[in-house]
Amino acid sequence: MTEQAGQAKRVRTSPAAGAVTPMMAQYLEIKAAYSDCLLFYRMGDFYELFFEDAERASRALGIALTKRGRHNGDDIPMCGVPVHTADDYLQRLIQKGFRVAVCEQTEDPAEAKKRGAKSVVRREVVRLVTPGTLTEESLLDARANNFLTAVFRAPTATADREERFALASLDISTGEFLIGETHAADLAGELVRLAPSEVVMGEELAADAAMRALIEGAGAAATPVPRPYFDSLAGERGLKEKLQVATIEGFGAFTRAELAATAALLKYVDITQLGRQPALRPPKRVGPSTVLVIDAATRASLELVRSTRGERRGTLLQAVDRTVTGAGARELAARLASPLTDPAAIARRLDAVAFLRDDPALRAELRRTLAAAPDIARALARLTLGRGAPRDLGAIRSGLAVAAATAARLAEAADVMGLPERLAALQADLTAVDTALGAELTAALGDELPLQKRDGGFVRQGYRPDLDENRTLRDESRQVLAALQASYAELTGVKSLKVRHNNVLGYFVEVTGTHGDKLLGAPLNETFIHRQTLASAVRFTTTELSETEAKITAAADRALAIELEVFNALVERVGAEERPLGLVAAGLAELDHHCGLAELAEEQGFVRPVVDDDLVFHVEGGRHPVVEQALVATDAGPFVENDCTLGANGGAAGEDGPRGRIWVVTGPNMAGKSTFLRQNALIVVLAQIGAFVPARTAHIGVVDRLFSRVGASDDLAGGRSTFMVEMVETAGILNQATERSFVILDEIGRGTATYDGLSIAWATVEHLHEVNRCRALFATHYHELTALAQKLEHAANATIDVKEWRDEIVFLHKVVPGAADRSYGIQVAKLAGLPRPVIARAGDVLQRLEAGDQHRPAEDLVDDLPLFSAARAEAPPAATAEPSPLAEALKDLHPDDMSPREALEALYRLKALAAETDGES
Ligand code: ATP
Repeated sequence: MTEQAGQAKRVRTSPAAGAVTPMMAQYLEIKAAYSDCLLFYRMGDFYELFFEDAERASRALGIALTKRGRHNGDDIPMCGVPVHTADDYLQRLIQKGFRVAVCEQTEDPAEAKKRGAKSVVRREVVRLVTPGTLTEESLLDARANNFLTAVFRAPTATADREERFALASLDISTGEFLIGETHAADLAGELVRLAPSEVVMGEELAADAAMRALIEGAGAAATPVPRPYFDSLAGERGLKEKLQVATIEGFGAFTRAELAATAALLKYVDITQLGRQPALRPPKRVGPSTVLVIDAATRASLELVRSTRGERRGTLLQAVDRTVTGAGARELAARLASPLTDPAAIARRLDAVAFLRDDPALRAELRRTLAAAPDIARALARLTLGRGAPRDLGAIRSGLAVAAATAARLAEAADVMGLPERLAALQADLTAVDTALGAELTAALGDELPLQKRDGGFVRQGYRPDLDENRTLRDESRQVLAALQASYAELTGVKSLKVRHNNVLGYFVEVTGTHGDKLLGAPLNETFIHRQTLASAVRFTTTELSETEAKITAAADRALAIELEVFNALVERVGAEERPLGLVAAGLAELDHHCGLAELAEEQGFVRPVVDDDLVFHVEGGRHPVVEQALVATDAGPFVENDCTLGANGGAAGEDGPRGRIWVVTGPNMAGKSTFLRQNALIVVLAQIGAFVPARTAHIGVVDRLFSRVGASDDLAGGRSTFMVEMVETAGILNQATERSFVILDEIGRGTATYDGLSIAWATVEHLHEVNRCRALFATHYHELTALAQKLEHAANATIDVKEWRDEIVFLHKVVPGAADRSYGIQVAKLAGLPRPVIARAGDVLQRLEAGDQHRPAEDLVDDLPLFSAARAEAPPAATAEPSPLAEALKDLHPDDMSPREALEALYRLKALAAETDGES
């Protein structure tokens, strides 16, 4: 049971008559309205939790559970978190699936007192914190989007129409807003693509186990909401209102279902933000027709933005990310998750990357400037939601300065040779904000900005004369205090006399206990009025001190009020420029993204691909970006590049290479089949986001759907075995791949009996060839499949070269035409360290099977006891075996202490030793 579900038990809200304090009555009333959340109830410098909330939070956070007063005859459990570290606790609670209602004091305690001694300070819930509605820097990953997605099942008019879902997604922390529809079969892929942290849906959809599994699979929290939230008319109205337009047609033709999903999204945002309006960028329409469709299994197996372990490490994203800002990194991740299908749009992006790659000086300058750009989108979101701080205004100020500098640099470049369309467009966006705003922020804000506005100290000297006046008054009064201290010390003859301050007494005169009596007695007691006696000190006040304090407080209060006034005015000005600021933020992110790809192209020797409407896939000298960088990082030798040409006639080039639309790739274990398959799929993804690709040349007829079924994985929690998962995914491919699709299939049919598996693999290749007619790479250890190349017109065989050397194999990783005759599985098993008797026995069995014994019943082999006994007798277990001279010599080597030259010499010695040992045996 999730923590969320555990919420079913409610706090008892029916207080026993007379037993409830006014504060507890207020708490219970607020709690009743937010029964599905933990209530953070503000008391002074703490957020306190009571009753069951306290018990659950103390368990979840590992903090002490205490008691406070009694309710209905029982102690009230309580725990609390300090306000200044609340973000950290919030993050942990959200991660554990809780929702939190933050309840603040919304009135000055002094005001409350005026209503009567027993009256309680007014409190209100100011916000609900849920996984999909976070804005705090400390709760968010700077390099990833944080989407909240509403899902709505479109009503189908007729039974035979395919089921469709509408999705509306908003990243409240940046204002990015996406709307689209998808087929039921593509829903899982869409959810993985968006990677929302929270999904809002109707109660009946949330009750659907398959739906819940999809959402959990995408790593999101599911939030059921009432059905009436999904009201398409309200959606249309909401969009018009939020975007301040009379008609929404300009943003695309939205379906009723899309508007219904939008309605639920906006309503949920309203509820969680308590009516505050987040900044919204105009919605982008996304759907299968505009982006390369990649299903959930393919995304997982290609490790585009998340590895199979759920990390960024080892992903394509990490291998190609050279951005210098969080917003740039988010842009790259978003684009990798949604490559395009329109060759013209792809070419426009490629033009931008090419331009920046060809001008290293321009690129270096832009990247240096961009590196100083703060996250404008997130600062803007916080400011418009009323959660902003002086540093957020500072972020807008420096963001605008970076935008102006980059725009000017781009304009300079444009004067020399003209800018490509994308760069020209974003250069215009970078100057969208009225320059007066930047000037105003610069004039108003100091250089060093505090985290909180509440203590002031952020408005620049000289911006508001009345503020400066009060600050001077406040500071001068402080000098008066210093002078008072000196004169009192002289008057009393107590050198250690101090003027101090605390929150209870305000300013006071303090002397040590030994001098207390002196001030308490005449004549000094006429000046010094006793306030407090402590163990070691006695405290007094004086008329002058009280007067000075009143002056200081008044000046400080007035100064702070002026600062807050300035803050609010600046927030309002920023709010008025919300739309153009959104353009600036997006422009900087896109520029960083393009510069990053250009840097990558230069650094890794990537080339510009040709992407068009052809149906060919022709790559010369292709490489796997992740494997290559890993090999380089570990000095594990160079990556061997490979060509791949797929098309109706084997493509235009590749004279010596295999020709066909489908390649059956056979080859030894560990030869590099999976690497080869994946590298070509990754080249498709990179090319279609408008990036350069790891190859010498690449021509890619645009791909509409990319499928990858690689390796075995099971979904035991989902009740599906390894083989079942494999077949479900294969079914998805065979049912959906079109002539324009690109499919990689690795070892289909391995999870069942040999002949079943072979038959399925065989029929799959035929279906891909005859029906889907897509471009495909099919790797297999069923060498029988290579016969298909003769039978099928557009199928070809490819294999990966190895050299045999004295019963060992050397992997060349080179893809060549032809078929492998064997898999060298036993040699690879030997490399992996299987015990020698097992290797020897496997060799025997293989020989007999290959000699034609495969038709003998297996029992014959099992009964073949002499072989077994021979194997057992042959060698003692590895642990007790006599160590070989080679192993002994290896044991004495300490690579970390060796120079490269010593290592080389040691290698020669080992080789000589190996030759000797071979000779002896
Ligand atoms: P199996 O059939 O056992 O699954 P495979 O043929 O699919 O093996 P891969 O997993 O692709 O083999 O590759 C094995 C290892 O070989 C990789 O981890 C990588 O280190 C190395 N390798 C693969 N391709 C190349 C290449 N082109 N250049 C250099 N090293 C490579």
